Amino acid sequence: MTIRPALKSGITIHRNESRNEVRIGSRWRQYSLPLQWCGVGTQALLGLLDGKFTFSELATTTGLESSAIESFVSELRSHDFVDLHRTPVAYLRRYNPELGRIEEVSDLDQVASDVAIETALKRIEIECDAATFTPGDIDGGRTSLLNRRSFQIVIFGHGKIVNALVGVLSASGFSKLSVINRVGTKDSSLKILESDIAGGYVTRSHFGQTRRIIVDEIRNHSLLFVEPKTQVHNPDLIISIGTPSPDSVQRWMAENTRHLLVDIPSSAEVRIGPLVTPGKSPCFRCVQLCEETGWQREQTLETNSALALTVAGAIALDVIALSDRKISAYHSTSHIHTVRDYTAPQIQHWSQHHACGCAWEG
Ligand SMILES: [Zn+2]
Repeated sequence: MTIRPALKSGITIHRNESRNEVRIGSRWRQYSLPLQWCGVGTQALLGLLDGKFTFSELATTTGLESSAIESFVSELRSHDFVDLHRTPVAYLRRYNPELGRIEEVSDLDQVASDVAIETALKRIEIECDAATFTPGDIDGGRTSLLNRRSFQIVIFGHGKIVNALVGVLSASGFSKLSVINRVGTKDSSLKILESDIAGGYVTRSHFGQTRRIIVDEIRNHSLLFVEPKTQVHNPDLIISIGTPSPDSVQRWMAENTRHLLVDIPSSAEVRIGPLVTPGKSPCFRCVQLCEETGWQREQTLETNSALALTVAGAIALDVIALSDRKISAYHSTSHIHTVRDYTAPQIQHWSQHHACGCAWEG
C-alpha cells in the first residue's frame, strides 16, 4: 500500500521564533522540532502532511532527499503524531442502484450526502480520535475501533454498574456484548428495582419492568455499530460485577476464560480487579486465601450512584485498553475506589497463592 503520511486529527502546530522551535502536539502533550529540517522550513513541511502526497512526491515538492522525508515522518511517528494510512470503515447497508440490490457500504468516507452515514461517521470519528494517540497507532484509531466490533464480552451481575457498563461499552464500539444475571425464577432482580437508578438510561419509569428487556434496550439505544444481538460463546473477557458463584468461577477457570473481578462490599467502596488470566495470574481463590475470611461477603450490595458511574467508566477504559492494545491496569492488581478518598484509588498487588493450586492446574 502506498504511504501518504497525514498529521493526526487534533494536532496543533505552534511556531516559536524566540525559542527557535516549532512545537507540535495536543494541549497537554507537546514536542519540540527545530525551525528547519535539512534546510527546509519545518512548518511548511508539516503543512504538506495531509494524506495527499507520497514520500517521493513530498521529496520532489520540497527538494529534499527521500531519506530526509522518511526520517522526518519517522520522528513524528515515534511521538504518535502522524498517520500512515486510512482504514475504510465498512458499515451500514444501502441500496446500490447500479447493482440493483442492498449491500453493505464498504467505505463510509466515500458516501456523500447521506444523513445516516454522516451521523454514524461523526460518532465513529470521536471514538477514533480518542484512540489515535495510543502508542503505535498509524491509522487514526480506526483499526483499534473496528477490532472492538469482534471483541466479545459477557457481563455477570445486575444493577447500576452493569447498566452503565452496557451503555458505555456499546457506545464505545463493542457490539458483541451480553449480560447474564444468574438468579432463581422468583428473584426480585429479574425486574428493574429502585436501586437501579443512577442518572443514566434507567429511570423511575422502568420500575418493575423485565430487566432483560431494559438491558437490551440500553444496548440497542447506545450501540455505535448497530448489529443484531448474537450469543457470545467464547468471550474475550468476562466482567463479574459482585461476588461470583463458585460454579461460575470454576467454569471460567476450567474454560480458560479471562475474567475481571469487581467486588462491592458496601455502598461506598468498590474494588476493581484483579483481571484473572487462568493459570497465569492470581485468581479469585488466590485473593480469598490472602484476605481475612471474616471480612469476606457472600452478598453483593448496591453502590451509590456517583461511584457506580465512576467505576463503570474506569472499567470501560480498561476494556478499551485491553481490546485496542492488549494491556490492562488490573493484571494481578486491584484498585479500590471509595467515596472517602475518591481522588486516589487504593492499589493492591496480588500473586498466585501457594495453597490455591491454580498455577499448576492451568
Ligand atoms: Zn489461584
